[in-house]
Amino acid sequence: MKETKYIFITGGVLSSLGKGIAAASIGALLKSRGLSVTIQKLDPYINVDPGTMNPLQHGEVFVTDDGAETDMDLGHYERYLGEPMSQRNSYTSGSIYYQVINKERRGDYLGGTVQVIPHITDEIKRAIQTTAEQNVDVAIIEIGGTVGDIESQPFLEAIRQMRGDVGKERCLYLHLTLVPYLKSAGEYKTKPTQHSVKELRSIGIQPDIILCRCDAQPLNADLKRKIALFCDVAPDAVFSSVDVPNVYEVPLKLFEEGLDQRIAIMLQLPAKNPKLEPWRRLVQSMANPKGEVTIGIVGKYVDSKEAYKSLHEALVHGGVANECTVSLRYINSEEITRKNVGDILAGLDGVLVPGGFGVRGVEGKIAAIRYARERKIPFFGICLGMQCAVIEFARDVAGISDANSEEFDPLAGNKVIYLMTEWFDYRKQCVEQRDTGSHMGGTMRLGAYPCVLTPASKAHEAYGKDSVEERHRHRFEFNVVYKEKLEEHGLLFSGMSPDGALAEIIEIPDHPWFLGCQFHPELKSTPMKPHPLFRSFIGAAKAFGGQGKK
Ligand code: GLN
Repeated sequence: MKETKYIFITGGVLSSLGKGIAAASIGALLKSRGLSVTIQKLDPYINVDPGTMNPLQHGEVFVTDDGAETDMDLGHYERYLGEPMSQRNSYTSGSIYYQVINKERRGDYLGGTVQVIPHITDEIKRAIQTTAEQNVDVAIIEIGGTVGDIESQPFLEAIRQMRGDVGKERCLYLHLTLVPYLKSAGEYKTKPTQHSVKELRSIGIQPDIILCRCDAQPLNADLKRKIALFCDVAPDAVFSSVDVPNVYEVPLKLFEEGLDQRIAIMLQLPAKNPKLEPWRRLVQSMANPKGEVTIGIVGKYVDSKEAYKSLHEALVHGGVANECTVSLRYINSEEITRKNVGDILAGLDGVLVPGGFGVRGVEGKIAAIRYARERKIPFFGICLGMQCAVIEFARDVAGISDANSEEFDPLAGNKVIYLMTEWFDYRKQCVEQRDTGSHMGGTMRLGAYPCVLTPASKAHEAYGKDSVEERHRHRFEFNVVYKEKLEEHGLLFSGMSPDGALAEIIEIPDHPWFLGCQFHPELKSTPMKPHPLFRSFIGAAKAFGGQGKK
């Protein structure tokens, strides 16, 4: 087993400073130095996991191969590290308390009084140590929230204790703050950073490195010296992180600042030059696109890109694979009717209906799908998007006029999408085996499942193999009773579960690109390895756009 070294990342002054991207970028830099790295998120909120949270409030729910519903930052970690995360990479106050309360109920504490210190903090440290069990050189631990929040205190206390437990030479504390530029004064202001570090020190954590988010200009030497003096760190341990138009530039920017080198020295990691050529090539190609496609995302959350974070990124990756920029138009499906759909979708090179829950806006999605199908506009349906595509096809092509999903109309005559009750028993077993038992009623299909691809289909062509594993997060399934009838009318089931019971991918062969999948391919796309379906979809959109211009 390796002697894992820890980098604890805390945030100060404001939320949304990009701690997740910073953690992921540092991870990418260390990995490019040949080190094995993992990243863990500790979220102070009380929800046992974000699965029950509204994506408008907290961004998308990211799902891992092992079926954990986690914070969207895990998506950044996977995209920058190019490695799958797991349940062990994400804990919340809720999940920690849940464990402790379960133990208390079982009598594990032998009559003792259960307290935040040491019981909650011990449980947090156990969670942190699961990273070392992954046998990595470096574990980056990102603490959600901002220093000073009431909820985050047990986490901060736990990471303070870690220094004593594993030795200070194995721990590095990095504090990310904001250094705002005050226009009226014409200068950067360091006071919020000073206060934030003061707060951190009052808890007993002295940061080793301060990473300052700032506008366009990096901090000059004077400002760095000032921050160093007031915060009691070395001047060469103060770094700037400037705003960049492309988030995949962040690792390169931090490298230019010398951050990874400083970390390597402080943690006595082997001195190696990072191999950053793939990152440079990526940024270079993104800065020099050879074209542009416009994709309409017909969904519910038009005012929060965070709610579709992985989707957004996967589309960008699809653009990288096709050397083009992907510009996104978020369209509120509630505004779409069969009458206005042509106007609303005008000028798009592709239409995408993403995952979602509930009946709101569904008929607008179905109208958009119908338009894309009839006008031969490339269409990609994901999860709910595939379910809507099946309903549309069943109604308009196969003549099953009352086709619907049990989710939208439990009394519908033909529930082509339905709740498979068998899942209940299966999921219940899985959830019972899990300590957290967090999944509402245990009715969701979560995590990676195998899918067998049909030869000579678009899916098979895109993936270039016979079977794949993709991640799911849904309750409802296609009802295979309707498979034959839809096939007779030209629908191709190009991906099925190995036992043939679950429809995973549908296509219309007589269309330039019409594909729906029951899983979430966006969760497995990375900039270095764009997901095959996104690569293929954007390729089709590019071809379609080209035609339109002729
Ligand atoms: N609401 C649908 C279901 O639960 C789809 C879910 C999704 O798109 N993630 O089956």
